[in-house]
Amino acid sequence: MASYGDELHFIVDSESLDDPADAREIDFDLEASDEDEEETGSDTDYLSDISTEVDPVAAALTPGKPLFLIQRSHQQSAILPQVFNDVAGRHLADLSLGAVAPLPRMSPDGARKFFAAVPNVPVRIADPECFARLDSFGTTLSQQRDGKAYVGQSGRYWDYFTDDQPVGQSEDWVKQVLDAQRVVGATLLLTPGMWADAATAEESLISMRRHADWARSNLSDAEHLAVNSTMSATWLTTARLREQLLNELIDSDEQVFYIRFRWPLLAQPYGHLLDTSILEGYAELASTFQDNGKILILPNTGLTGWLSVALGAHGFSTGLGSGERAFADTRVIKIKQKSPRPAPTQRIFAPSILHIIERSISDRLDALPEARACDCRFCRSLRQQPTGQFDKALAGAHYLRRVADLTARISGETNNSITAARNLIQEANEFRREASSTVPLTGANDPKHLPLWAEIIS
Ligand SMILES: [Zn+2]
Repeated sequence: MASYGDELHFIVDSESLDDPADAREIDFDLEASDEDEEETGSDTDYLSDISTEVDPVAAALTPGKPLFLIQRSHQQSAILPQVFNDVAGRHLADLSLGAVAPLPRMSPDGARKFFAAVPNVPVRIADPECFARLDSFGTTLSQQRDGKAYVGQSGRYWDYFTDDQPVGQSEDWVKQVLDAQRVVGATLLLTPGMWADAATAEESLISMRRHADWARSNLSDAEHLAVNSTMSATWLTTARLREQLLNELIDSDEQVFYIRFRWPLLAQPYGHLLDTSILEGYAELASTFQDNGKILILPNTGLTGWLSVALGAHGFSTGLGSGERAFADTRVIKIKQKSPRPAPTQRIFAPSILHIIERSISDRLDALPEARACDCRFCRSLRQQPTGQFDKALAGAHYLRRVADLTARISGETNNSITAARNLIQEANEFRREASSTVPLTGANDPKHLPLWAEIIS
């Protein structure tokens, strides 16, 4: 948010906006500073048994068990160690866990502390986010944010991020990108992940391959690498580009890919991807990876990532803030300053309809005879808050726990995971149909994605 006289400018990632407080938070999530939040160490040690495995990272990158990644957000991240413990205590048989630090948006010390607070999460990714460099997608990101840089003050810590580079970059620079991840304790190293421009598709793919070759030749035998790339969703929706991309990835000698697609502006805050052609593109990508025994990780995809895992992707990341749940276009809105500011809308994930909705509506769903309120530890704590009060960290932790539960449910062989996901989506669809006769599931509370998902997974 920026102030221009009595006008406030907000950055949002959705078309509709019923609450300026959402906008302010989205803006804040992308702020660079990580100095006002501190994760504390794990309160229990469910995870300690993983460390006895010979190579837990290799195990987490083996097909079969999905990889559930949580990306650190700017706000409320102090609760994440509890979320990891809670999930690990229940689901280690069915999923692997990973933590992601958005490297240039943190200080080196902040990233190290984040990983230190989750010492037994095997997959630790320090995402170099080179797509946000000014010679990559950074200028567009900034234009969509009223000129405000995607990576702010913390960029000064990271020479790999700010230093000028020749076109195509160099092997030395790729090594520098790897070293930046090593020093903070990453266990799965990523290639830089520059923006793959669809207008120069061939050159973009050649550059991705060259970065992977340079990274591979600077890796020790004990280290793990994922080829990282960031690109427009056009690569998924245009048949020619999709084929070109799939040929490149499947023919590559590399096994593990970490691919982030830029989504169009979402319909609503904390919304789902509602574009059928993009969903179909994900479905084809996921199943092709699965058929070829390759590992596809989809960062910042929320429940769209979950659906993709059911269809053959290996893992996905989500998080507490909207920027961790979706990598979508943003826009700036201008609102006259009013005081006092209205209280922010309380929103919570409603597992019965796989959707984030207003808390009052979620309470009404839970009160239906065929439903019951979530009894996870975070919801129990949330219900102990004084009436009318809300705790965004607990609500977000409940979301992460529930998405992990859903991911554990679709673990296993492809056919089983598709069937399990199809059943979960059908259940949610039926619940929505019955509930909507008594509870108003309209506007942003309408789970519009469910019919689309049912179609994709039919
Ligand atoms: Zn809960």
